[in-house]
Amino acid sequence: MSGLTQAKRVVVKVGSALVAGPDGPDRAWLAAFAADLARLNARGQQVLVVSSGAVALGRRRLSISRKALTLPEKQACAAAGQSALMRAWEEALEPHGLAAAQVLLTRDDTEVRRRWLNAHATLSTLLALGCIPVINENDTVVTEEIRYGDNDRLAARVAQMIGADVLVLLSDIDGLYTADPRHDPDARHLPRVSHLTPEIEAMAGGANARAGVGTGGLATKIAAARIAQGAGCATVITLGRRPSPLAAIEDGETATVIEPSVSVTAAYKAWIAGSLAPSGAVVVDAGAARALSTGKSLLAAGVRAVEGRFGKGDAVRVVDEAGLEIGRGLARYDAADAEKICGLKSDAIEAVLGFTSGPLIHADDLALTPTRAPA
Ligand code: GLU
Repeated sequence: MSGLTQAKRVVVKVGSALVAGPDGPDRAWLAAFAADLARLNARGQQVLVVSSGAVALGRRRLSISRKALTLPEKQACAAAGQSALMRAWEEALEPHGLAAAQVLLTRDDTEVRRRWLNAHATLSTLLALGCIPVINENDTVVTEEIRYGDNDRLAARVAQMIGADVLVLLSDIDGLYTADPRHDPDARHLPRVSHLTPEIEAMAGGANARAGVGTGGLATKIAAARIAQGAGCATVITLGRRPSPLAAIEDGETATVIEPSVSVTAAYKAWIAGSLAPSGAVVVDAGAARALSTGKSLLAAGVRAVEGRFGKGDAVRVVDEAGLEIGRGLARYDAADAEKICGLKSDAIEAVLGFTSGPLIHADDLALTPTRAPA
């Protein structure tokens, strides 16, 4: 079971070799794949596509046949090819009444909190509007130091950001094996993997050595699967070169499912607790501290004081009146507004601020320190 049929959010990574044929975009494959995506969309599932192919299409458009490109040439090809790539996606999705929406990301968009919030809000809005985000790295402007470098990892970061349940990596190999199947007749296919062992890594290293159209290989797919595992997202690796690769996964065709190591919620809370530097603190009274420990949200009424400067969406420490940390959470108001509504009942907030964003910290965005968490 890949979990694809039940998934609410799915990220599918499509490599250059699938979308870029020898004479331009592979329209036949894209048309068939768009039908596959439309099927999931019609079932109410939200799908995001991470599509490579800009450099491959751009190099054809600009008639550069040399194999090795300099970085500026690669960036020029990405610029020329990205528009061709999007046109091909639009043409493929339009007959199904689906709008493609181009999103070009750089690594900062998934690693710097403010940019993360912005990218997250845009992607969530696109999904709510029923669009298919078609995402690529913004190759034209990124420098070597700030690139993801390959779309497998970019896809995993997107899956993490958007809380996807399944990440599908469409590949030229139908999954992971105990050894490189092209050289070892005893290589066994692995349908399900819960631990990415050193043996699996070693096999992927070998398979990655050969040159291809894209930048990825099995090694980057495993790196992506590792990111997804920690984000509570399952990864499916299967052959992309067939008309309906997603239907093939659901029909039980050969694929490898790499299981998540934690739940999406646990991963999100661990990220709030561990990865974000808190920009301030809220001091809560004993009643609020008790309510939080039973899984409730933090209401302004239970807040005694606000410390530091933080913006809406920033991580803050939640401390009790003795100064002990109870947890960390994402504030729904900035520090100045939080100060104004401190101690107020929820129905009095709007009169003071002119708006309300609900609780100061929603329970979903609050990671309690382990000793305080409900059993
Ligand atoms: N972003 C690159 C492109 O669109 C591809 C990177 C990759 O395939 O991993 O051409």
